[in-house]
Amino acid sequence: MMMKYFCLENEENNIEESLNNYKDIFKNYSKNFPTLEEALVELFMNAGATPNEANNIYKNLNDHCKSHITKNFDAIKQNHPMISENDALVICSYTYDIEMYKNYAPFRLLNINLVNDNRKKGIQNIEKYLFLLLTALRKMQKVKKNKLFRCLKTKVETEKVPEKPKFVPYKKGNKKTFWNFISTSYDEKTANSFLDGGEGTQLTIIGDNLWGYDITLFNYFKESEILLEPENKYIIENVQKGYVTKVICKIIDNIQPLSDIIPISEIKCKKCGSNNIKSLYKEEREYFCEKAGKWDKNEARNKFLASRTVYSDKDLFDNGLYITILWKTGWGWNIEGWNGKVFCKDCDCFWELSEFEPYPTGEY
Ligand SMILES: [Zn+2]
Repeated sequence: MMMKYFCLENEENNIEESLNNYKDIFKNYSKNFPTLEEALVELFMNAGATPNEANNIYKNLNDHCKSHITKNFDAIKQNHPMISENDALVICSYTYDIEMYKNYAPFRLLNINLVNDNRKKGIQNIEKYLFLLLTALRKMQKVKKNKLFRCLKTKVETEKVPEKPKFVPYKKGNKKTFWNFISTSYDEKTANSFLDGGEGTQLTIIGDNLWGYDITLFNYFKESEILLEPENKYIIENVQKGYVTKVICKIIDNIQPLSDIIPISEIKCKKCGSNNIKSLYKEEREYFCEKAGKWDKNEARNKFLASRTVYSDKDLFDNGLYITILWKTGWGWNIEGWNGKVFCKDCDCFWELSEFEPYPTGEY
C-alpha cells in the first residue's frame, strides 16, 4: 500500500494558512470525540457514497479490521502501551484497501483531500477521521530512522510545469512540503518492490529529524510500513534522473498540526531518555524470568514485589517455585498491578504509565 501521491502542489508561504485551517476546523473537537463509525461514514459520503453504501463499506471494513486487531493486539500493546483497541482499529482502518471499495480506501480519501488545492475544503472532508487517526498515532512510540525509502510508479517533475505555476519542481536546493501522510519503508528493497521492475521514482528521505510510526502490526496486509505525519518540510538534496529517478530529500521541519488539542504522548524513560519502552507481554516475560534466575535473590524479589500485589513471596523464592509461578501466570501480563506498567529496554528500569504526561484520557 504505497501511496501514489508525493505532493501535488507547493506553496512555501502557506504553512501558516494551512495550520490556521486546521485550527479553525478542529477548535470544537476536544469535547466532541467522534466514533470511528461516524468518522468513516462521513468520509465515504463526502467521497460520493450514498448513506446506504457508506454504512455497508463501514461494516465490511470494521469486521475485517476488528478481527485483524484482535489477533494482533497483544503484540501491539507490548510496543505501544498507550494504544487502546479502538486506537488500533483506527490505524488498521487506514491500511484497509480492497478491490470492491477501492475508491473508498480511507488512506486514499484522506491523502487526496490533504493535497486538495482548496486545503480548507479538503480538511473539512476528512476532519473526523483525521482527528481520530492523529489521536491514535500520537499515542504510539516514535521510530527514529536515518533513512527511509518510498517509491512510486510515475516520474516526478524535475522542471517547472507551465500549467501548474505554483508547483516547485524536484530540483536540488528546492524546498517542498509533504502535505499528506507518507508511507515509507526502512528497507530499500521493500520500497523498490512497489515499482515491479518498471520506471518511476525512488525517494530517499533523510534527516536528523526523521521519525515516523511503525504501523506494521496494524497493517491489514501485514506490509512493513513507517508512516510519516503530514506537514513535513524538506529540501531536495540531490536528483539523479534515469529509468528510476532518484531523489534524496532531507526533512528540515515537521510541524505537528493540532498538537495543542491532540497530545503528542510519547513515553520516554525518565532515567535514560530512551523511548524504547515496552509493556511486559508474552516474550518479555521469558526475558525477565530468565533474567530473574540470574539475579541476586533478594534483589530480584524486591524488584518483583515492588510492583506485584497478587502472590505472597514467602517460601516461593527459596524453593524455586516463584519463578515457575511467574512463568505460568505470565508475570507482568495477566497479573493485576502490571497493567499500567512499562519498562525501559535500554536501562531496565520500570515506570508506571500514569507517570507520563500528557497521558491521554480521551476515549471513544
Ligand atoms: Zn531507560
